[in-house]
Amino acid sequence: MRLLIVMAMHAEAEPVIERLDLEAVANPPWAAPVPMRLWQGSLGSLEIDLVVNGVDPDSGLDLIGTQPATASAMLGCKAFKPDLVLSAGTCGGYHARGGSIGKVYLAHDRVWFHDRRVAIPGFDQLARGGYPVADLAHIGSKLGLEPGIVSTGDSLDLSPEDNKRLEAVGAHAKEMEAAGVAWIAGLFGARFTALKAVTDMVDGQHPPEEEFFANLKHATAKLADALVRFVHELERMGDLPA
Ligand code: SAH
Repeated sequence: MRLLIVMAMHAEAEPVIERLDLEAVANPPWAAPVPMRLWQGSLGSLEIDLVVNGVDPDSGLDLIGTQPATASAMLGCKAFKPDLVLSAGTCGGYHARGGSIGKVYLAHDRVWFHDRRVAIPGFDQLARGGYPVADLAHIGSKLGLEPGIVSTGDSLDLSPEDNKRLEAVGAHAKEMEAAGVAWIAGLFGARFTALKAVTDMVDGQHPPEEEFFANLKHATAKLADALVRFVHELERMGDLPA
């Protein structure tokens, strides 16, 4: 089995690279100026490719959001033909739905966009995404990962319009990449899932930009831990369920 992991931020990826003993690939199979970075490794029969969005060449900042995530997934899927694509990262969580800082969700059911609005029949549905998530609930329950509804948008703040859509799907994880990655996985006929660790509470007291940095280290350690255990379980399984 071949697993493609797509991540946005270096800080999120570092513990994963270390714990899975992945090796940096200096010349990835895509054009040189493209900022996406590649690490590779394996665990038994499981081949692992990790694409990190990389940094914006002008600002040096991590390329967060759906555009780079979609590009990373495209490059990774084209180069490696993965069986499973996993969007890993951090997210905002919800007290109202049992969330807490550091909790790690395994994506469940479908992944949505909450910031794309097109009031034309047909296009309204297309804009919402709703891409299917592989049913790996048995791994989740074995590892104590809670199933969560993941919803994606390109803003860290919460607008009233986005909020309506997040509530409509009962989101557990508000983040900025998963649906873009899921779309590409679907186009390539690969299965999709996501692991998201909570750095901030969407329905809490503090603005996300403050909480995010305060909890980033804790949440990324939890994410890496969950991802390592997930990967071992996947290897043990050998094949994805039909
Ligand atoms: N300001 C930070 C970037 C944080 S943006 C920096 O300069 O490095 C948030 C990143 O974490 C995105 O990749 C997103 O997927 C995730 N994230 C965490 N909490 C979020 C929230 N409440 N809403 C949206 N995305 C969130």
